[in-house]
Amino acid sequence: MAHNSKDKRNKNKMPTETRPPRGFGGNFIIIFLVVTAIFYLYEYFNARKYVETLPYSQFIANVNEGKVKEVIISDTKITGEFTDSKENKAHFFLTVPVKDEHLIETLQAKNVTFQGEVASSFWGNILSWIFLIYILSLLWSLFSHKMPSGMQGIFSMTKSKAKVFVEKDIKTTFNDVAGIEDAKDELKEIVQFLSNPKQFTRLGGRAPKGVLLVGPPGTGKTLLARALAGEAKVLFFSINGSEFVELYVGLGAARVRDLFEQARKAAPCILFIDEIDALGKSRMGHIGLGANDEKEQTLNQLLAEMDGFDASTGVIILAATNRPEVLDPALVRSGRFDRQILLHNPDQIGREQILKVHIQKIKASPTLDLQKVASITSGFSGADLANLVNEAAIVATRRGSKEVEEQDFSLAMERIVAGPEQKKKCMNADEKKRIAYHELGHATVSLSLKTQDKVHKVSIIPRGMGALGYTIQRPMEDRYLAIQDDILKKICVLLGGRASEKIYFNNISTGAADDLSKATNIARAMVTQYGMSEKVGLAIFDEQPAPMLNTPYQQYVTRPKSEMTSQFIDQEVRAILDHCFKQAEHVLELNKNFINEEVVLLLKSETLNESEIANAWKKYGV
Ligand code: ADP
Ligand code: ZN
Repeated sequence: MAHNSKDKRNKNKMPTETRPPRGFGGNFIIIFLVVTAIFYLYEYFNARKYVETLPYSQFIANVNEGKVKEVIISDTKITGEFTDSKENKAHFFLTVPVKDEHLIETLQAKNVTFQGEVASSFWGNILSWIFLIYILSLLWSLFSHKMPSGMQGIFSMTKSKAKVFVEKDIKTTFNDVAGIEDAKDELKEIVQFLSNPKQFTRLGGRAPKGVLLVGPPGTGKTLLARALAGEAKVLFFSINGSEFVELYVGLGAARVRDLFEQARKAAPCILFIDEIDALGKSRMGHIGLGANDEKEQTLNQLLAEMDGFDASTGVIILAATNRPEVLDPALVRSGRFDRQILLHNPDQIGREQILKVHIQKIKASPTLDLQKVASITSGFSGADLANLVNEAAIVATRRGSKEVEEQDFSLAMERIVAGPEQKKKCMNADEKKRIAYHELGHATVSLSLKTQDKVHKVSIIPRGMGALGYTIQRPMEDRYLAIQDDILKKICVLLGGRASEKIYFNNISTGAADDLSKATNIARAMVTQYGMSEKVGLAIFDEQPAPMLNTPYQQYVTRPKSEMTSQFIDQEVRAILDHCFKQAEHVLELNKNFINEEVVLLLKSETLNESEIANAWKKYGV
């Protein structure tokens, strides 16, 4: 019974770095099969000509009997033609010669025409090898790249075949980008530079070369880069960093060179490298594996290219990453990506502005309150919001409505947060009742403790994979600090489901597993990360390093601790959970009236919305 499981929202956006590697093994097998087939076909057609393979003695006998018309003699074989093709028999024959000084005499005696043949020559061999290699490499490029352009084949391997997208007359402008005003301001300077380089450098100011956009997926990095090109009215080259990661040593570097050459010719322009972490990974800490040489060469080439041009070139390089901590420090040194723009998921106001941009693309009801939509989408990225608007439009269309209204957003929101409704998943009456009490347990604790997050909806319609019911809370505002009391209340709310089951059924179910896991994580963080336990004290034992530029990649750090401290930590986590559970039980006992009233309604309509819950709470709540 998931409780406000917003964590699922980022599933739709996977780092494209997971692009399948070129199927080396698969291609190789295919090529092998093709070559073998060619080989056998060749043999087959050759063999047709010389179908009958005779022992030498038989051949001499045939000659003596006058059955042989003519022969061609080489060092390794004698081939020839019979005088008359016997029915169903071969017209040609082949035999392996033995040392026979009398062969010529025998042939002359029987009037057989004969001629010699140059033993298959050295050059012939070489040529056929070259041909074979050529065929092989053609096949190779056929399978590993889509197609060799024209028939350039192997000899043009160094020409860039990476997927570079070039766009002209981009319509995207800064108006399409909302909620990240700082970033826009920073880039406006570059627009000025691109549209009038002379004016910009008049006072000797150095134009920026590279800008690194850093932020989680969906925060508008690509959008911002395109908008920049649109504003400055210049060409937009875009490529994914993984395009440079190549099998052959040197090829990646060649691609970088080609790309910059292209960009220089097209200047003024913007060159956008998405997911630059794919090629700009820190060179330290990767041991072994030959692919490393290749990566390093590619990276070095990129650094060299960036150093190699100055402001007058008119090429601005933008790169995006959501993993700045893995980037090679050399990339962010001055003169390269020396400007960094950090993008975050938008806050309440930012979300409202982003929604405003996207709402223009659909037919929204004039009464739609974007502020309210923004308030229930805390934690959403720009891409999530764009997706939400789209989903809402779909929901409204399905409903047969003329306009998209608030209820559509509510439904779309649930789809995104909890997965699509599974109306078919039938639960028996007992299970439904248990889930209803469980969810109302969460809601009641939240209402009674006056948590900051308002109860937005309670539902017992199963959703997604795991959730049998759910309670959505609506954070009142974005918060950057959490107060100890609020954290404890949050744990109480999470435990409210289990507590309610215990009170009303006098036994418990597996349905609280997810709640318990979340509650435990929070309690543990209080003890080991926030210094909120008296017994353990202010010392920190776990920490999550902030992702920073110029620091090598770090993972969640657990500091060494004594056996005794470990025990204290476990005891404290347990004490917090026990305390919160007791409080939840207490609150639920006080509010039996409210719960008993609401359970009936919930079982009937399966969902209760914010105003329904609030009204009932006014009447019965304590
Ligand atoms: P990123 O490159 O950071 O992963 P994108 O730029 O590809 O994210 O964003 C995907 C989509 O999300 C954009 O095309 C746009 O529709 C929407 N979006 C993201 N951020 C914003 C924003 N700040 N303003 C408006 N739309 C946004
Ligand atoms: Zn629950």
